[in-house]
Amino acid sequence: MDLSTIIKPWKLQPQKTRLFVNATIIDPVHGDLIPNASVKVSGGQIIAVGTNGTNVLREDVPEDDIVDLSGKYLCPGLIDCHVHIAVVPGETDLRAYKDMTERISLLRQPHVLKTMLRRGFTSIRDCGGASLAIKEAVEEGVLPGPRMFIAGFALSQTGGHGDMRGSHDDQLCCGGSISGISRIVDGPAECYKFARDELRKGADFIKIMGGGGVASPTDRIEHVQFSDEEIKAIVTVAKNAGTYVTSHSYTPQAIQQAINLGVRGIEHGNLIDLETAKLMAEKGVFLTPTLIAHVMSKQMNFLPADGAAKNDEVLEKGLRAMKMAVDCGVTVCFGSDLLGPMHFAQSKEFSVRSRVLSPLQILQSATINAARLVMQEHRLGQIREGFAADLLVLDQNPLEDITVLDRAEETILGVIKDGRVYESRMEHLGKDI
Ligand SMILES: [Zn+2]
Repeated sequence: MDLSTIIKPWKLQPQKTRLFVNATIIDPVHGDLIPNASVKVSGGQIIAVGTNGTNVLREDVPEDDIVDLSGKYLCPGLIDCHVHIAVVPGETDLRAYKDMTERISLLRQPHVLKTMLRRGFTSIRDCGGASLAIKEAVEEGVLPGPRMFIAGFALSQTGGHGDMRGSHDDQLCCGGSISGISRIVDGPAECYKFARDELRKGADFIKIMGGGGVASPTDRIEHVQFSDEEIKAIVTVAKNAGTYVTSHSYTPQAIQQAINLGVRGIEHGNLIDLETAKLMAEKGVFLTPTLIAHVMSKQMNFLPADGAAKNDEVLEKGLRAMKMAVDCGVTVCFGSDLLGPMHFAQSKEFSVRSRVLSPLQILQSATINAARLVMQEHRLGQIREGFAADLLVLDQNPLEDITVLDRAEETILGVIKDGRVYESRMEHLGKDI
């Protein structure tokens, strides 16, 4: 008797060996289509990729597990580099989230994860709020969801983007207190301590609130947050642990401060100027714009009046900034940053970006660029031997029209993560989960 299946009854069956034949592979590195391709997956990995119907790949694959993808495309699984799974649906506007407890959130997170997977996101990077417990639950098979890279709680200064107290709130907030998806830290000593604490609690990287934000009640977009000494402390902690810091920053001042101190990623970046874009390219800093969050916040009236005004300002400039960054050679990643009831619009980021970028540039942002940001470029973002078997079966070509990814319920016929079929609308591709 296998005791491990009694102790952990949710334990997943080992992955099947499958062979996909007659597929057209989408290669996001060169923007090529590879026709008549065969892809063999086993044990969660892509173990062989062949062209022209290579027969040798058929050996040891049962006939039932050979899947004919004639006329279909095989695309690497998508990676969303900026999500907050802890800010779950259920309320109409941001104010209501003050009363959202961690328990309520945790019970609703499986819904958020499942729907992300359905939209083709086989990996996500959570920039504040997700816990190690939910990440492990997905890894162990307790619930279906994308593979996760988490920041734990984001670090914010008092009165910064992560401090959810209003101006009339006299309650003192002591070092390391949790406020929404953030922890409040002031001074290098607290920065050292709580950056280390986030890593102890399973953070894969550290997120800081390095400047003012849209949803925060008492700061302005143009504020620079944290001192040089504080950011330096956090960067040291992350580097010592073999990882990196990413910073929520909109303005050139906040971005330049962060990247000159060793921060590796910038979130949002809507107000970037040419000088800053060039500096980011030179230093190899990643940019993750999150434009759909601004579009949806406006459409759904999610923010209180002061937040809505800030939102209008950054929405307009965000598209131009992203285009400028790409033109300067900055590595741009896909991000959505949707909160509460807006998660459903995650894939609409593809359409928003298509106003200024090419389909290949956008697909790269959600595959190979994102894989580099999460330090998994050796196993995520491409359909190649030795890579994780994270695959989407599509019935249309996203390199021709990227917005096909925005219509997941029509165009995504199958979602495979880690060699397991989580979603399928094809007769010959049975679900494993
Ligand atoms: Zn965010």
